[in-house]
Amino acid sequence: MQRIEEKYFTRSQQHGKIKLVNSVDYNCPHCGRNVNFAIGWSIPTSHLSLTAKSRCSGCGEESKFVYIDYDLSDKVEYGKLYIHPDSKRRNSIIDFTKTESTLNHGLQTAYESALNVYNVGEWTATSVLCRRLLEGITQDLLPDENKKHNLNKRLTELPNHLDLQKPILTLADALRKGGNLGAHFDLDKTPDKKIASQMLDLLDYLIEYIYILPKQIDNLHNEIEDLNNK
Ligand SMILES: [Zn+2]
Repeated sequence: MQRIEEKYFTRSQQHGKIKLVNSVDYNCPHCGRNVNFAIGWSIPTSHLSLTAKSRCSGCGEESKFVYIDYDLSDKVEYGKLYIHPDSKRRNSIIDFTKTESTLNHGLQTAYESALNVYNVGEWTATSVLCRRLLEGITQDLLPDENKKHNLNKRLTELPNHLDLQKPILTLADALRKGGNLGAHFDLDKTPDKKIASQMLDLLDYLIEYIYILPKQIDNLHNEIEDLNNK
């Protein structure tokens, strides 16, 4: 099941104390098109969750919807809406409203635009916006005198102005020190749940960075080269 965020809700209706979602614009789990799903809920007398089915107007396949955690008491807010099976829709890997990041607002918007055009199936526009975002990132990171250069030159300049190794070395060092906290007995310095879960998060990034990303980067590079040589 995949949660559908409120920004995709297009119509709602008040039913007693429940704020029902009647319609969403979302990518169909079956054909991937961005379509409107009209959701007609049947509401039993006693319920903790609601279920409904809706057909995609593109391919005609049926998806299931589950609505849960709607407030039956005073405050009128949306509950949580889920779709099943999961849509192939691409969502931002980072929730910028909740995550501390130095990525500026303009670049966040550009990233979201790239996701949006991808989700409506505009592949050429997606590739153009990915490149534009890369340009924006180099603009952001390089000093003014380097900004007038073309993208290729800017990319080669990047390591002179940004220590690309530093984050990964700091990350590995943080994992080592966190491990020391656990390995050496000291009642005053024991890792808590927050430290343990952050260490696991960082370990995920480290494994991805060292063992997964290089292969993915090579694959993409080769596929693009193959297309260029056709
Ligand atoms: Zn469909």
